[in-house]
Amino acid sequence: MTMTMTRSTLVWFRQDLRLEDNPALAAAVARGGPAIPVYIWAPDEEGGWSPGAASRWWLHQSLASLAASLSRLGSRLILRTGPSLEILRCLAVETGADAVYWNRRYEPASIALEIRAKKELPAAGIDARSFNAALLHEPGTIRNRSGGPFQVFTPFWRACRAVADQPPAPRPGPKRLPTPGRWPSGVELPALRLEPARDWTAGIRARWQPGEKGAHACLRRFVREGLIGYPTGRDRPDREGVSRLSPHLHFGEVGPRQVLQAIEAGAARDRRAGMITAAEAYIRQLGWREFAHHLLYHFPRTPLEPLREEFRAFLWRRDSRGLRLWQRGRTGYGIVDAGLNELRTTGWMHNRVRMIVASFLVKDLLLPWREGARWFWDTLVDADLANNTLGWQWVAGCGADAAPYFRVFNPAMQEAKFDPDGVYVRRWTAEPRPAPIVDHASARLRALAALARVRTEA
Ligand SMILES: Cc1cc2nc3c(=O)[nH]c(=O)nc-3n(C[C@H](O)[C@H](O)[C@H](O)COP(=O)(O)OP(=O)(O)OC[C@H]3O[C@@H](n4cnc5c(N)ncnc54)[C@H](O)[C@@H]3O)c2cc1C
Repeated sequence: MTMTMTRSTLVWFRQDLRLEDNPALAAAVARGGPAIPVYIWAPDEEGGWSPGAASRWWLHQSLASLAASLSRLGSRLILRTGPSLEILRCLAVETGADAVYWNRRYEPASIALEIRAKKELPAAGIDARSFNAALLHEPGTIRNRSGGPFQVFTPFWRACRAVADQPPAPRPGPKRLPTPGRWPSGVELPALRLEPARDWTAGIRARWQPGEKGAHACLRRFVREGLIGYPTGRDRPDREGVSRLSPHLHFGEVGPRQVLQAIEAGAARDRRAGMITAAEAYIRQLGWREFAHHLLYHFPRTPLEPLREEFRAFLWRRDSRGLRLWQRGRTGYGIVDAGLNELRTTGWMHNRVRMIVASFLVKDLLLPWREGARWFWDTLVDADLANNTLGWQWVAGCGADAAPYFRVFNPAMQEAKFDPDGVYVRRWTAEPRPAPIVDHASARLRALAALARVRTEA
């Protein structure tokens, strides 16, 4: 009698550090044999965007949380260090696995790696399958009338909402994970050295609960308490008006389908007037996240180059002192300094304040948006190549659907409007305040003159 033996599947975790609504994991379980969860630390494979210090701290906590959840199911998380494809091939040999399943990422270097995986793993006799866990709609499924990518948000989002294939309902996590007879070896989490040698993370630790459980707690709290006030509260850094889900979404501790479902269900349950409008306003922000990922997919050079070609010739200033004062929150403008201090302390900054500090760097100081994007990359716990690139190019006026070039945020007016009682600025700045490093009125005129040159030369 011949017996058919179902062989093991390697589940390659990446930016999908969750058990629920995880299609790669679900497919591995459905396949029937043992599922072997693996995470490979390979910062050299990120195309020059290896995770910054704040992201590494988060990743450490998130991996610890995922490992604990897996062990509650009787399973384990095998940790290895790169190169990814070599490790996957070795693990397949060690465990007798004949399949690798994973959820897709959309950064240029990740796409290149996945293309290689789809070629090289099957060549070694390993079935390679990937799934969508990170987006509501994948790039390529949303196109404009001429078949190209959208570069303006509103028609993009209208098209997303109109397609027949709306995102499927999220699936529950597995109740049990079939385990191999013998586990392959792995390294211990501290060996990845994701946490800083000199601990500066007290402020971040106090603010966040990384991991799937923390993500759901954050989402539930927001649906219960924050959503109703979102349309106005989302612009107020002095209030708890936003969800703060961004790092959880970036690391895939919760997926956008789960967020969408929770928001829609919360709005349907709650009879308060304005709840449906609030839910729509929030879901639209998830749309911006989608837009950013689609743009990065279609325009993979934009983390380093402006989307709008005429900006290539723009003469940014060089001013290392100005950059350092901006990074340290010592510009002398209350809301700018408060934002940068909030960022250094907690690893996060409110969206309104991100726009203000970014505008200050690229317009008041005329420093390159890429310098700001790099600083955010190192300091944000939600640093995300797609969202960060879109945000910076939007403010600089050189990206998709960007702010008009003549819009230069006036920090004092922004502060008066969005932090009218000075609560936010007092919370994040110390007295005495430094003197302003530039005069906003003359800096604005200088920026407008420089930007007008780009337009006339285009
Ligand atoms: C200069 C600049 C840089 C930015 N860098 C990043 C970054 O590295 N990572 C990041 O996740 N976001 C970035 N953003 C977008 C935005 O500021 C954050 O997503 C938001 O502040 C996160 O807080 P929240 O989760 O409370 O947002 P909420 O208001 O609660 O929104 C919910 C979710 O929608 C998505 N979202 C909201 N606004 C945007 C937006 N403008 N673009 C794309 N997605 C959005 C996020 O995933 C967010 O978690 C940047 C914005 C600017 C102006």
